[in-house]
Amino acid sequence: MFEKVLIANRGEIALRVHRACKELGIQTVAVHSTADANAMHVRLADESVCVGPPAAKDSYLNIASIIAAAEITGADAIHPGYGFLSENAKFADIIAAHNITFIGPSADHIRVMGDKITAKETVGRVGIPLVPGSDGAVETMEDALKVGKEIGFPLLVKASSGGGGRGMKLAETEADLERAISTAKAEAKSAFGDDAVYLEKYLVQPRHIEIQIAADSHGNVIHLGERDCSLQRRHQKVLEEALSPALSPEQRAEIGEITRAAIEKLGYLGVGTVEYLYENGQFYFIEMNTRLQVEHPITEQVTGVDLVREQIRIAAGEKLSLTQKDVTFSGHAIECRINAEDPKTFVPSPGKIIDYHQPGGPGVRFDSAVYDGYTIPPFYDSMIGKLIVFGDDRDHCIARLRRALAETALTGVKTTVPLFADLIDDEAFQAGDYHIHWLEEWLAESE
Ligand code: ADP
Repeated sequence: MFEKVLIANRGEIALRVHRACKELGIQTVAVHSTADANAMHVRLADESVCVGPPAAKDSYLNIASIIAAAEITGADAIHPGYGFLSENAKFADIIAAHNITFIGPSADHIRVMGDKITAKETVGRVGIPLVPGSDGAVETMEDALKVGKEIGFPLLVKASSGGGGRGMKLAETEADLERAISTAKAEAKSAFGDDAVYLEKYLVQPRHIEIQIAADSHGNVIHLGERDCSLQRRHQKVLEEALSPALSPEQRAEIGEITRAAIEKLGYLGVGTVEYLYENGQFYFIEMNTRLQVEHPITEQVTGVDLVREQIRIAAGEKLSLTQKDVTFSGHAIECRINAEDPKTFVPSPGKIIDYHQPGGPGVRFDSAVYDGYTIPPFYDSMIGKLIVFGDDRDHCIARLRRALAETALTGVKTTVPLFADLIDDEAFQAGDYHIHWLEEWLAESE
């Protein structure tokens, strides 16, 4: 096992990794920007190193500073968390060149999955069902129109290097196609420095369902069921649940095994998530994330598996602590991403937290790095905590969630707590009857 892990992240995920390390008897090193000198991940870690000024590009994305911090402190592994450098293949390569272990998959797997066109081609070859679309990048309008004729409209133009919902444009009809392609290309070029785009059939009312997988270096590969992340705003997840209210145990076993077998064929190592859209009983791959996801705790709650612990153990060359037969599901879990934002306009609301009481009691877990008197800096994303609630079944989980939201106290900044309180009282939500566009429609109606 590792002796010392450097955590190349901030906020709740830095704390989550710290906790898993401590339980494994590992020393931790926090890195931080000057804006985060008083952050909880810095306070709790065994050692800390300042890696630069507030802007993420100069600190949390500053590879040279982070490697220097690992060298100075003698860390033998680096955990990247999610976001920042977690899916940066060059970072994984540089870490390996310094004889430090990257807690994640190989740089090659990161590279393949980071390019969505290559990712689709790769997983298509190992039996994963795909969204019908162009065969690779579309180079000319002639090619694009041909795809439109074959597949029909609406079509979605997507950036091959896309992420965070950016670089995606809808073409309702043939007349929109040229403009959708040129705006998607321009957006992708400026956001990712790569203007390659491809076309996909636009699914009108699908759910977003993703399968959690874990693979060790001894040939063991398991899936841990699914998460339903259909409640989104601007293609960003807002509330997730495990398991999905839309799948039967047979459907779960089927897509779980298809995914597991594919990951085994790819020789993938570590934890990862295969994301699908699900419509009319069919699954369609959209992308694979080669890292821990924000919403991993809901899977932990329904399976009893500590995913971060498994991830660290895998990187250290140990065997998965369970086999597929040992993976069982019980109860229901929901996660609310609580942001420091206006609950109506979603305008970020950084500032000082004055009165803080976090929810607790049976079945309630609050993964957060904020504390009473903490000042939320304006430089990073606005998530301040993940409220994760577990119940015997979905109704019980919702009742607990309602109770936990009501006892959450946090003043000084605006938060999205009131949004969740309203959302979970909606009848369609309670019936589990929603799709990826449902939340935006609901928000527009409740304006
Ligand atoms: P990103 O990497 O930018 O998050 P994804 O490919 O994961 O992009 O897609 C993000 C979200 O965009 C999905 O969860 C879904 O809501 C929507 N989306 C993506 N592809 C399609 C599609 N073919 N049809 C309809 N919606 C889609």
